[in-house]
Amino acid sequence: MTIEFSGQAENRRGDIAPPVYLDNQSTTPMDPRVLDAMMPFFTERYGNPASSIHAYGRDAGEAVDNARAQVADLIGADPREIVFTSGATESNNLAIVGAARFTPARRNHIVTLATEHKCVLESTRYLEREGFPVTILPVRSDGLVDLDALAEAITDRTLLVSVMAAHNEIGVLQPLAEIGTLCRERGAYFHVDAAQGAGKIPLDVDAMNVDLMSVSGHKMYGPKGIGALYVRRRPRVRLAPLVHGGGQERGMRSGTLATPLIVGLGAAAAIAANEMTEESERLGRLRDRLLDGLNRRIDGLVLAGAREPRLAGNLNLLFPDVEADALLTALSDVAASTGSACSTAAIEPSYVIRALGFDEAAARRAVRFAVGRFTTEAEIDRAIAAIADTVLRLQAGSVEDADQRAGSSTAA
Ligand SMILES: *Cc1c(COP(=O)(O)O)cnc(C)c1O
Repeated sequence: MTIEFSGQAENRRGDIAPPVYLDNQSTTPMDPRVLDAMMPFFTERYGNPASSIHAYGRDAGEAVDNARAQVADLIGADPREIVFTSGATESNNLAIVGAARFTPARRNHIVTLATEHKCVLESTRYLEREGFPVTILPVRSDGLVDLDALAEAITDRTLLVSVMAAHNEIGVLQPLAEIGTLCRERGAYFHVDAAQGAGKIPLDVDAMNVDLMSVSGHKMYGPKGIGALYVRRRPRVRLAPLVHGGGQERGMRSGTLATPLIVGLGAAAAIAANEMTEESERLGRLRDRLLDGLNRRIDGLVLAGAREPRLAGNLNLLFPDVEADALLTALSDVAASTGSACSTAAIEPSYVIRALGFDEAAARRAVRFAVGRFTTEAEIDRAIAAIADTVLRLQAGSVEDADQRAGSSTAA
């Protein structure tokens, strides 16, 4: 099946070109090399990796072991510290709720940031309703954590601190090593949601004193529906499982392992580990080309979040006098989003942009553009033209509207 696109510019042959995909932080297309690695495990290599009594099971088991090592390598972990899950949402729930369920009552305080992903915030709110004390810290206007405020918030009763590596909306990179040091000094677990960071920026769980780290397959050119949680062995992090059953994944996550998806996650991790440095340079150049091109044509663009340190492919821009909803709807040649790709159709002003100190009206104007592995320079140029044309057209419309309103009020 092919996706039907309508309303886009036609190319020279008269075909309709698909929209330029600049939504790589909502999800990435799968790398064809990942699909190649996965395919045999959908067909002839179908054994259950737990069935080590026969050759089919052992074959699948070895493929899972290999993938586990590939994921571990990406973040400087030991393969025995990797638990496969259905994605970063589950990994974050297991890290936060699982740690809370295991804790002695005197150490039950949880600290996180106002700009964390919904699945982290909702996990902590769920625990708060059960009586766990929770501190949700504001961030600085550039989106980065205030390390002094964090140091003050962590006490000898703090169980866990959860801070993401790279931000899904504004792309800022948090100072993980500094946060890790603070946590280690106070004996609190440090959980990192690395759904957007893994495979994009160098991560090392030992150097950064990370105890728990969540990753997701579909944010790094792997398949959807697979992720992992790193769980430190020394000193040992204890989690209560959320899913009970056959005791797979050392009892932390029961259920038959999804061999094809796990193989895909492993392949995606290996590719990212090899190509990360070069890729982030290339994405940084494309991202800067997009920003320069838009700045040349549109006055008064505002970049939300620190310019640096920032994920190479990310931009989050506030367009003067144009709401994100209207822009994204009118922009049929570019696929982008506000960043909160959650289930609701109605575009709510982003709580992340609000947390940077922008008012609600400004937050309604924020659009995220995320360049990815398969974005080309020609696509960036096409996107610049399409975005700028649409913004200028909508701005002119809003001026006309205002004139009309002014005109009718004078007439009245
Ligand atoms: C996408 C994302 C998640 C959720 O990951 P899934 O694998 O889709 O469940 C969590 N945190 C961040 C920062 C994300 O970008």
